[in-house]
Amino acid sequence: MAKSPAPENIDVIHWARTATPKPLALRLEGQVSVDFVVIGGGLTGTRTALGLAQSGASVALLEAKEIGWGASGRSGGQCNPIWRATPDDLAQRLGGGVAERLVATTLSCADDLFDDIRNYEIECDAQQNGWVQAAHCPSQARSLRALSEGWNAAGGQIEILEDAEVARRCGSEAYTFALFHPKGGHVQPLSLTRGFARTAQQFGAKLYENAPVQSMEQVGDKWQVTTPTGSVLAGKVILTTNAYTDDLQKGLRKTLYPMVSVALVTEPLSDNLRKSVLPNGVTISDSRRAIYFGRYDRDHRLIFGCVGSDPEKMETLGGLKRLQRGLTTVFPQLGETEIETSWSGRIGVTPEMMPHLHEPQPGVLAGLGFSGRGIAMTSVMARSLVHKALGGRDDELPFPVSPVKPIPFHGVTSKLLPLAAPAMTLRDGMDRILGR
Ligand SMILES: Cc1cc2nc3c(=O)[nH]c(=O)nc-3n(C[C@H](O)[C@H](O)[C@H](O)COP(=O)(O)OP(=O)(O)OC[C@H]3O[C@@H](n4cnc5c(N)ncnc54)[C@H](O)[C@@H]3O)c2cc1C
Repeated sequence: MAKSPAPENIDVIHWARTATPKPLALRLEGQVSVDFVVIGGGLTGTRTALGLAQSGASVALLEAKEIGWGASGRSGGQCNPIWRATPDDLAQRLGGGVAERLVATTLSCADDLFDDIRNYEIECDAQQNGWVQAAHCPSQARSLRALSEGWNAAGGQIEILEDAEVARRCGSEAYTFALFHPKGGHVQPLSLTRGFARTAQQFGAKLYENAPVQSMEQVGDKWQVTTPTGSVLAGKVILTTNAYTDDLQKGLRKTLYPMVSVALVTEPLSDNLRKSVLPNGVTISDSRRAIYFGRYDRDHRLIFGCVGSDPEKMETLGGLKRLQRGLTTVFPQLGETEIETSWSGRIGVTPEMMPHLHEPQPGVLAGLGFSGRGIAMTSVMARSLVHKALGGRDDELPFPVSPVKPIPFHGVTSKLLPLAAPAMTLRDGMDRILGR
């Protein structure tokens, strides 16, 4: 396998090989005045900029590196359109009204994403062929069954697959129980991000790259955000920096853990292998804590990923070995298949594995913490941020507007993050050995 590329350079990450061209971004110089400034050029930021610009507002999007540089351009690109919690759990946690809106939005979020892609004519190799969510042990089979019952009672269309049917639908004999979500699918995530950015630009948004925001201060009733080369004066600031969040807004970085996710890409698979591995172009992810996930790209290469330890050096604490072992655990038929390259990125994980919408100060909004479910959910968040930024009511949102609450002992626990992947792998292994 080729050496893993340095995370700094998105051009060497697999998706850059087949992505649509980069949107033409500007260099920020002097001072620009707009209604809204969006900080962060991933799926959340670009889709937010698109929605605001489409409403007729003036928008500047500032990205520290380049559009799609963060998780969005490194993602597995699987649209896994459901939470880990049931609608009843959500009602208990959030209260009836918000939970009802969140459930309704969740049930339509995959179709909404694929509709957006069609309506805005975004080229991103989108396929809505369904998602197999497999249980790696009996207790997780029970949890998945309860999850499907909860969501189907609320209007979902989840199918249960058992025994030989699981292998027939996904090509893996590693599982005997799975859910099939027909609304699931996959996209080329870098192309999707660039597509949202380009569409935002067509509606008049200004995109600035190499524009790391270093400070944010209130000037009268406006906000001034400053980069090394210029500044933006805006009525409202929207932070969409997810796992790459820094200390621009006090406490925000500490509301999530920037976990590492690693992925590899195989050589294109033969017609014969493709008959058994993820037939019909479905995607797969499983119930492991150190989750295994997989899908094809448009050239029949298999993308396979799991949780990692170190975004700079994937080998750390067995990260790369775990990934290779995962591939042949799920698909032993790929034992001889060449792996072309691998890469890593950071996902923003909140304690309850659900994103947060914050309004930490008047005129400042933040939407982040997708906990590995960002492909469709970033659009749900973006629409929510647009609604709120344009003066929409909080009681129409699918997320509560929550205060910024740093996770207790975040500094100490963050230092232990590299150990999370080996620890989770150990627990996943114990589940299987003990048959629980
Ligand atoms: C390897 C990998 C595989 C994944 N697979 C899947 C999957 O299959 N399905 C799924 O649903 N999710 C998946 N995810 C998660 C998903 O990709 C993310 O939830 C989603 O992309 C988050 O988008 P975002 O726009 O919120 O954040 P990001 O895409 O991370 O964008 C944040 C941006 O903010 C910028 N930024 C930070 N600070 C500043 C600043 N001060 N000034 C300016 N810019 C700043 C960063 O440079 C970055 O580009 C995966 C993630 C990874 C890393």
